[in-house]
Amino acid sequence: MTAKIISGKDLATKIKADLKDEVRELIESGIRPKLVVILVGDDPASHTYVRGKERASEEVGIESEVIRHDATITQEELLTEIARLNADSSVNGLLVQLPLPKHINEKAIINAIDPIKDVDGFHPINVGKMMIGDEGYLPCTPYGIIELIKETGIEIRGKNAVVIGRSNIVGKPVSILLLREDATVTVAHSRTRDLKEITKRAEILICAIGRAEMITGDYIGEGAVVIDVGTNRNAEGKYVGDCDFETVSKVAGFITPVPGGVGPMTITMLMKNTIAAAKRMKN
Ligand code: NDP
Repeated sequence: MTAKIISGKDLATKIKADLKDEVRELIESGIRPKLVVILVGDDPASHTYVRGKERASEEVGIESEVIRHDATITQEELLTEIARLNADSSVNGLLVQLPLPKHINEKAIINAIDPIKDVDGFHPINVGKMMIGDEGYLPCTPYGIIELIKETGIEIRGKNAVVIGRSNIVGKPVSILLLREDATVTVAHSRTRDLKEITKRAEILICAIGRAEMITGDYIGEGAVVIDVGTNRNAEGKYVGDCDFETVSKVAGFITPVPGGVGPMTITMLMKNTIAAAKRMKN
C-alpha cells in the first residue's frame, strides 16, 4: 500500500478562505478581531512560529500585534502586561509564546490570561471545559489533528486510536478529543511496554513524541491513518517528523507530511479560535 498524503497545507488554505469571509462579516458589523502575541527572548523556533501567526492573521484579516521582550523581563512585569491586555476590550485573543525563560513560571503566566481570550486553549478553565465537553477554546494542535483525520473521510467513531505522547499541549488533549469523537483510545508514552504491538493495532495513530523518524513501517497497521506531529531535525539537519516517512507510507493508508501537515493546521486553528473569541466578546 502507498499512503495517501493528508495535506495540512491544502486543508489550512481551504479553512482560511472561509475564515476570511467570517472576518469580513465581523468587520462589517463593526468588529475587527485582534490577536496579541507576547514573545519573550530570542529562541529562533519561537520567532519562526510567531512570524507564521502574523502571516496567517494578515491572510484572514485579523489584526495582529506582537509584543517583544528581552529574556530579562521579570515575571511581575509580564503579569502586569497580561493584566493590561486582559482589560483592553480591543484585544480578543491573547497568547504568550512558549517556552519562557527559566526564571518565569509558565503556569502562573497561563493562569493569568483571561480564559475568554485564551485562544491557545491552555488555561485550566478551557482544559476543564474540553474535558467535560463544554464550549471553550480547543488547543490548536489537537484541534487541527482532528480536522486532518476528518479530512480523510474515515469515520473516527469506534476506531482504535493510539496516541504516542502525553504532553499537556498535544498527547493528552488529542486523546480527550478522540474520545469525544467516540474512538477507543490508548495513550502510550516513554514507559509503555511493547509499543510496537500496541501501535500495530491502531487504525488511527498519532505520533507526538519529538524523536526524529523513530516510528518506522513495522510499527504501523495496514491502512492506518497516521498523523505525524513531530517537528525534529534528523542527523543530516533535515526537518523531519516522528515517522520515517518512507517506510511508514508503504504500510499506512493515510499520512501527514512534515512539513506541511500538522504545523499549518495548528496556526489555522489559532485563527479560528481568535475569530470565535471576537464573536464571544461581541455577544
Ligand atoms: P513532549 O516532549 O512534551 O512530549 C513527548 C512525549 O513523547 C512524552 O509524553 C514522552 O513520554 C513521549 N515519548 C518520548 N520518548 C518516547 C519513546 N521512546 N517511546 C514512547 N513515547 C515517548 O513533546 P510535545 O508533546 O510538546 O511535542 C511532541 C512533538 O510534536 C515535538 O516534536 C514537537 O516539536 C511537536 N509539536 C508540533 C506542533 C505543530 O504544530 N506541528 C505543535 C506542538 C508540538 P513521557 O511522558 O513518559 O516522557
